Amino acid sequence: MQDFLQTLLQQRQRAALYRTRQIHCGPQTPILWIEDNPYLAFCSNDYLGLANHPRLITALQQAADHYAVGSGASHLITGHTQAHHALEAELATYTGRERALLFSTGYMANLGVITALFDRHDAVFLDKLNHASLIDAALLSRAQIHRYPHQDLSVLERLLAQSTARHKLIATDGVFSMDGDIAHLPQLVQLAKTYQAWLMVDDAHGLGVLGKTGRGTVEEYNLGVDEVPILMGTLGKAFGVLGAFVAGSELLIETLIQTARSYIYTTALPPALAETIRTSLTIAQEESWRRQRLQQLITYFRTVANQFQLPLMPSVTPIQPILLGETEQALAVSQALYKRGIIVTAIRPPTVPQGTARLRVTLSAAHEEQQIDKLITTLAEVL
Ligand SMILES: *Cc1c(COP(=O)(O)O)cnc(C)c1O
Repeated sequence: MQDFLQTLLQQRQRAALYRTRQIHCGPQTPILWIEDNPYLAFCSNDYLGLANHPRLITALQQAADHYAVGSGASHLITGHTQAHHALEAELATYTGRERALLFSTGYMANLGVITALFDRHDAVFLDKLNHASLIDAALLSRAQIHRYPHQDLSVLERLLAQSTARHKLIATDGVFSMDGDIAHLPQLVQLAKTYQAWLMVDDAHGLGVLGKTGRGTVEEYNLGVDEVPILMGTLGKAFGVLGAFVAGSELLIETLIQTARSYIYTTALPPALAETIRTSLTIAQEESWRRQRLQQLITYFRTVANQFQLPLMPSVTPIQPILLGETEQALAVSQALYKRGIIVTAIRPPTVPQGTARLRVTLSAAHEEQQIDKLITTLAEVL
């Protein structure tokens, strides 16, 4: 085994694909501390700057005083508390759906939904750039898998037309996590209707951020439960905590409680975290300036980056990739920035297709204009 692992790791190293972890020593803010040195970071999914909000910290402390720490069991045994239950009701209200079901992570939510609803008689249609958890979920379900080129809905239509599967699912990211573009949901809704497919949107990067009131890509396009019957959202990104949920009809949620294995066979989130998420959901609604501030910063970033002719991609979301192409170049630029006190992750294959390695800049309402200036001038210098 050791020889095998050694060879495997050496191959990754030679292909410039070897990954290492930085060790951070403080809270998630635009300034991160590594070994007593501050770094300016553009990497987190904490889009609204809630991860270190004082009210969340207090909520967590107070809930820990009441519930202590571990939930002790899965939801169907004795792990389901008033905190989890209230959060689910609030998530249902927030998304305007009959019910919502809490999962421990977004990865598990996707696995749970798709394996619960689909099997080898069915077909799942996936955008090539969908998040890995949707792809893994489809694989695990044993449904036929059809992947269409990114946002190429004519290919999707052809695949849908040819399929004779019992049930068809179109599963898509709402905002694509590596490109930052938004799924063409109205057209997907139309295709789903025409070919009797069900539509599932994973809105990990849209929820809390997009739409008039932050309800995500479905709000952006004004779509309800009839158009998008399965909505998945995460609670570790814009909401700054951890966890995920699926929202939909009463029947959908009851079915998932009975059969979603990644819901049933795992320990419930600590109740104090559920309480913390409730507070986060409240703040996201009360402090709508956070969303507006984020939008301002996105516009500012794109304006300044264009002045410096940086290779931006067409994104209106806080995910703003800078396309560099070769893996080695993306890595070299990321390292050069790091030496200058700035952290922007290089995203390489297999996370993105060969030849599209990039720096993935993500913005947060907690950033300042002058921090964006520093990023862009340093980047221009390095390039
Ligand atoms: C982050 C992410 C997930 C996984 O969510 P976690 O809660 O981090 O497990 C799923 N889908 C998409 C599109 C994501 O970006």
